[in-house]
Amino acid sequence: MHPSPAIVPGRSCGTCTLCCRLPDIDLFDKPANAWCRHCIEGKGCSIYADRPSVCRDFLCLWMTEEALGEAWEPSRSHMMVYRQGPQITVLVDPDHPDIWRREPYHAQLRAWADEAEPNGGYVIVFWQDDVFKI
Ligand code: SF4
Ligand code: SF4
Repeated sequence: MHPSPAIVPGRSCGTCTLCCRLPDIDLFDKPANAWCRHCIEGKGCSIYADRPSVCRDFLCLWMTEEALGEAWEPSRSHMMVYRQGPQITVLVDPDHPDIWRREPYHAQLRAWADEAEPNGGYVIVFWQDDVFKI
């Protein structure tokens, strides 16, 4: 079992609830981009103390990697970034379709893709049903 990565000092989810909305969560039969039925928008989880491990164990990269600067705070970037093996996954808030094409985001996504490529890595951006490989 791997220990959970450490949270960058000073960072917290605050009022961000993107990971209760953007990913699909089988446990709750929750499709992508639909609010989890336990989420109170702008406030957070209504079952926080009893939330399942799938929620408890998840931290996006902004929470664990200092290299993702202030611009990547999910409540500001409107994107949720995490690693899945060689893939860096970027889920884009449906209400902000073009944000990932803007700077500083697009240049950073390209840089991550260039950095990952020699080791077989890549970056995938999801917005609604659209998928973009970088
Ligand atoms: S997307 Fe990141 S900052 Fe936002 S609630 Fe999830 S783990 Fe916290
Ligand atoms: S159970 Fe709570 S933490 Fe988990 S997705 Fe739903 S609202 Fe978010």
